[in-house]
Amino acid sequence: MAKATGALTFDALRPPSPFMTESHRAWRDNLRRFLEREIAPHVTAWDEDGFVPREILKKAADFGLIGAGYPEEYGGWREGFDRFHGIVTSEELSRLGAGGVSAALMVHGIGLPPILAIGDEAMKRRIAPQVLSGAKQISLAITEPDAGSDVANLVTRAERRGDRYIVNGSKLYITGGMTSHWATTAVRTGGPGAGGVSLLLIDLTAPGVTRTPLKKQGWWASDTAQIFFQDVEVPAENLIGVENHGFAGIMMNFNGERLGMASGATASARVCIEEAAAWAQSRKTFGKRLADHQVIRHKIAQMIQRVNATTAYLEHCAWRVQNGETPVADLCLLKVQATETLDFCAREATQILGGAGFMRGSRVERIYREVRVNAIGGGSEEIMRDLAARQLGL
Ligand SMILES: Cc1cc2nc3c(=O)[nH]c(=O)nc-3n(C[C@H](O)[C@H](O)[C@H](O)COP(=O)(O)OP(=O)(O)OC[C@H]3O[C@@H](n4cnc5c(N)ncnc54)[C@H](O)[C@@H]3O)c2cc1C
Repeated sequence: MAKATGALTFDALRPPSPFMTESHRAWRDNLRRFLEREIAPHVTAWDEDGFVPREILKKAADFGLIGAGYPEEYGGWREGFDRFHGIVTSEELSRLGAGGVSAALMVHGIGLPPILAIGDEAMKRRIAPQVLSGAKQISLAITEPDAGSDVANLVTRAERRGDRYIVNGSKLYITGGMTSHWATTAVRTGGPGAGGVSLLLIDLTAPGVTRTPLKKQGWWASDTAQIFFQDVEVPAENLIGVENHGFAGIMMNFNGERLGMASGATASARVCIEEAAAWAQSRKTFGKRLADHQVIRHKIAQMIQRVNATTAYLEHCAWRVQNGETPVADLCLLKVQATETLDFCAREATQILGGAGFMRGSRVERIYREVRVNAIGGGSEEIMRDLAARQLGL
C-alpha cells in the first residue's frame, strides 16, 4: 500500500487543536511507540486468526494503557489525564485500523466504569486491580435477544434468595463474552420497565453459565458471545449499586462510551483519508495520477471537510464533559455525526482504492467492515437521533 506524505498523513490531517497541550502530545508519542512496537506488526494476523494473545493484555497494562484514566487506588493512573488524553488514546488505537484489536484490549472501558461509579468499596477493591493489571477481563452484558435498543424491556431475571441471586436468561452480542472472567450484567430484579433493572457482577466461569461464540462481519480479533444463564447463583454482594436502580448506571456508562466511539470513528475516517490520498497520488489511470482526476480530488476534499467538522464537534463536546457537563443530546448527535462521517469516508476510500480496497489485509478494507458496528453498537443512529430529539424537548 502506498504511503501518505505531506499534508495528507494521519497527523497532518488532524486540525490544530486549542485543547491539545504538550501533555497530550507526549501521551500520543509514548502510546504510539508502544502500539507500533507491540501491536501494529500483528494486527492483520490477529484479526485473521480471530483473537488477540492474552499476553498482550498484560503488556498493555504494564505500559499503562489499560489503567489510563482510572483511579490510582485501584491500580490505574489518572494524574494529569483528562478527556483529551482519552481522545488521543482512541485516535491512536484507531490508527491501527483494526477495531477488533482495540475492542479486545479495551472492553473493560465499558465493563468496569459502572463498578467504579456505583459499586461499593469492597467490590471496587476486589475487581478493579485485577482488571487494570491485565490479569482478568470484564465485559458489559446489557443486550438480549429481545431487548437491544429497548434496554428497559430486558427480561433476564435475578431472583433474590437469601444471600444470593438466582439468574436465568441470556445476553446477546457481548464483546469479550467468550474470554472475559466477569460481566457487568443488567438483570430484572423488580417489575417491568427501567425501574425494575439492576446491575449484577456475574462470574462467567460459574456453574450454569454457557457461552457461544458469534461470527461477525468485522472486528474479528474481538470475540463476541451469546451468554446463557441457567440457575446461576450470584452472591448478593455482587449487586452493583442499589437494587432496581441499575438503569441510571447503564445510561451514565453510555455517555462515556459514545464519546469514546465518536473519537474512534472520527480517527478511523482519518485513516481512510490517509490511505486513499496516498493511493490517489501514486496510482495512475488514463495517463495521470488518480489525484489528477477532479472527481477523485473532490472525493478526498469532501472526506477532509466532513472529518474536520466532526473533529470540531467532538472536541467541543469533550470540552463540555471535561467541565462537568453531561450534554446528552449532543453526545448522541456527535455519535451519529461521527459514524455517518466514517460511513462516507470508508465508502469513498474503498472506491478510490478500487479492487485493492476489496482485498483483505489493508486498514481501509477492515474499517469498511467495521462501519456498521460503530453505527449500531452503543446506541444506533436512529436511537441516538430520537434520544437527542426527546432530550431537546421534542
Ligand atoms: C459487534 C457488536 C458488539 C456488541 N457488543 C455489545 C456488548 O459488549 N454489550 C452489550 O450489551 N451489547 C453489545 N452489542 C449490542 C448493541 O449494543 C446492539 O446491537 C444495539 O444496541 C442495537 O440493538 P439490536 O441489535 O437488538 O437492534 P434493535 O433494537 O432490534 O434495532 C434494529 C434496528 O431498528 C432500529 N430501531 C429500533 N427501535 C427503533 C425506534 N424506536 N425508532 C427507530 N428505529 C428503531 C435500530 O436503530 C436498528 O437499526 C454489540 C453489538 C455488536 C454488533
